[in-house]
Amino acid sequence: MKYKPGSFTKNFGWETAGRGLVKLHEAIKFGFNSSIKAVSRDSWRANCGIEDSARQLIPLNFFLHNHIVRRADQVSADELVRVAINEPHSRKFDLLALFALNLNEAGQRTNGGKDAQHPASWINEAVRDVLWRADAWQAYGGSNRLRTALEDRVLAEGDDTAPKCATNYLRILELCGFSKRATGPLNTSPIRILPSAYFLAWDRLILDGSLSTLRPNDFIEPLRSREVHKLLGTSWEFVEETAAEAIQLYPGQQTGKSPPKKKTGASNPPGITPPFGGLDEALQAQTGLDRQIERRLRTALAQVRDRKIVSALKIAYNNRCMFCGETLCVATDPLRHYSEAAHIKPLGTPHNGPDHTSNILILCPNHHIQFDQGILRIRSVGQKLVIESLDVKSPLHRRALKLHPGHKVDSAFFEYHRSWHDDD
Ligand SMILES: [Zn+2]
Repeated sequence: MKYKPGSFTKNFGWETAGRGLVKLHEAIKFGFNSSIKAVSRDSWRANCGIEDSARQLIPLNFFLHNHIVRRADQVSADELVRVAINEPHSRKFDLLALFALNLNEAGQRTNGGKDAQHPASWINEAVRDVLWRADAWQAYGGSNRLRTALEDRVLAEGDDTAPKCATNYLRILELCGFSKRATGPLNTSPIRILPSAYFLAWDRLILDGSLSTLRPNDFIEPLRSREVHKLLGTSWEFVEETAAEAIQLYPGQQTGKSPPKKKTGASNPPGITPPFGGLDEALQAQTGLDRQIERRLRTALAQVRDRKIVSALKIAYNNRCMFCGETLCVATDPLRHYSEAAHIKPLGTPHNGPDHTSNILILCPNHHIQFDQGILRIRSVGQKLVIESLDVKSPLHRRALKLHPGHKVDSAFFEYHRSWHDDD
């Protein structure tokens, strides 16, 4: 499908070498008069510091969120505005601004038609369809796939419309630190902009009335349907895990109650106030939480990492049980066959076994249960690891463990497992 590119053919500041998106950072700060409160579109334009009236529209239409209050256009104060005002310019700001552009939830304004509501759909689609692959953004320079994808989605008004739009977007990627010469997956550093990226998405969904509940579970689904992981250049598992943490920190969620109500306009769904519609209390609470955010995210990331270790191990074994050698077919795609990760020395008290590959076996569900119950055990016999079954008639009894050459297990954990069950 083709989309109208709006004023994206113009660029207002990203041509300046080495300045990054400094200009955007300044324009937001000045436009909002350094105060995190919604402003009228007109006063934003008067204050933003950008002289050229056509260029003033770029930040307004593509990076910021607009909404209509009593038939007048307002620019919303959301997480991007909060970051621009409270924090000095940094790569975090650039990446968050890029996320805002890619997310493309730009709100509505009185003179804008349907196209004005999602004026960067062509970017959003190209990022999700072409730039993102295999849980990461892929190098876009060499093959020019991204350029072609961008150009293909722009409804050309003149010969140079589509190439100009693509060039401008690729320039923004460069200014955000993505090299044109890169090959292979690009490091989008999603952790760097978390939890702000989720806050920004939720702010905008609330402002647009697409999110009208405060139940934490309902906050995840819109991220899934908008494929936010692709916009961040990461996996859905990463987003699901870290967003679940971030919800706890989102203003209005800490106590399970909505933030104190203030009149911010008629466009808000009943019972919900956008957290950054001038809510100083919510903002102060937010600032004080920075350390807590960091700690929680680190825990979430450790869990994600451990999960990745487990999936790598399952792939190495092709989901084949290390005891019986069977795979459990639950889908035609062999990568989606089912296996379980069994901890030899169990996690949690009183055992406190480590979540490490040296303590993990890949097993079918039946043998996982038998291993956990101590019916099946492992004994070292010389260099070999041999299965012992309390049911000596079991075909597994005295069979060798089918160990992948790249997988080292620690026999001390097998000893722990045996002695624990010997005490039964
Ligand atoms: Zn098995």
